[in-house]
Amino acid sequence: MVKTVMQDMQVCTESRLVQSSATAAECYVCRKRFDDGYRITAKTMVHGTFLLCNEHYGLKWIVKPRPPI
Ligand SMILES: [Zn+2]
Repeated sequence: MVKTVMQDMQVCTESRLVQSSATAAECYVCRKRFDDGYRITAKTMVHGTFLLCNEHYGLKWIVKPRPPI
């Protein structure tokens, strides 16, 4: 009985994680967010798939932005 409840909880947590990552679409370069009204598109490149706004979609290489100091 207890085991069944635990399994149900695990399923709930996993589906919530998937949802949150799907709604957190933001440009990999400038961090513009889909939530803010920007158009974010996934682009597959040699070194992986990145989410990019209109402005950065044309880039051939993605340089990881420096962390804020
Ligand atoms: Zn951008």
